[in-house]
Amino acid sequence: MSKYQELIELLAQKNAKLIAVSKSKPNTVILSLYHQGQRDFGENRVQEILEKQSTLPKDIKWHFIGHLQRNKVKYIVDFVHLIQSVDNLKLAKTINKEAVKSNRKIDVLLQIKIAQEDSKYGYDANDLIKQIEALKELSNIEICGVMGMGTFTDDSKVTRNEFSKLKEIFKLLKDQHFNHTKSFKEISMGMSGDYTIALEQGSTMVRIGSLLFGSR
Ligand SMILES: *Cc1c(COP(=O)(O)O)cnc(C)c1O
Repeated sequence: MSKYQELIELLAQKNAKLIAVSKSKPNTVILSLYHQGQRDFGENRVQEILEKQSTLPKDIKWHFIGHLQRNKVKYIVDFVHLIQSVDNLKLAKTINKEAVKSNRKIDVLLQIKIAQEDSKYGYDANDLIKQIEALKELSNIEICGVMGMGTFTDDSKVTRNEFSKLKEIFKLLKDQHFNHTKSFKEISMGMSGDYTIALEQGSTMVRIGSLLFGSR
């Protein structure tokens, strides 16, 4: 069985979805997964997602998973399926404004910083709580859950702790702010090196690149 088929079977058992992270990979490689049934793909650069979206099949669901600059939101707003990396209110407001112009409601995840490394983007959980009411007021974005990246480490205890923390933050947000919001249900966590731990901790969406496509 191919790695892809193995993953799909595991994820079906766990009720989680696969986002195939195709950054830096050519269209031919994306199409070979597409022909096996994969529709959700993740990219982290605006220029690259634009080039791919314009040439690949239109029923692909494009997830934006990287740091997004506000002045580039307008380029992806017409087609993006889910922006997973909203980590500040200004960005959320810009997405909302562009979504109004495009007459769309854009699904987003709130990216939360769970790793110790400084290089990682994402909300500090306490700052997020302070902004949550303002975020909820933005009528053309739909907040569908949270996203996080674990520390790059072989120490599974560290990773397990971080994913468990993200799950707790999700639960707190759900209980206190999104109790009546059906669409608030996603916990996007887990990459090639740590997706089994993420699934054990309740991930609903794993973002996997190198395991499927080989290292970059
Ligand atoms: C690159 C990337 C992934 C996939 O990483 P792999 O280790 O190749 O599976 C997942 N999430 C984000 C945000 C990424 O930038």
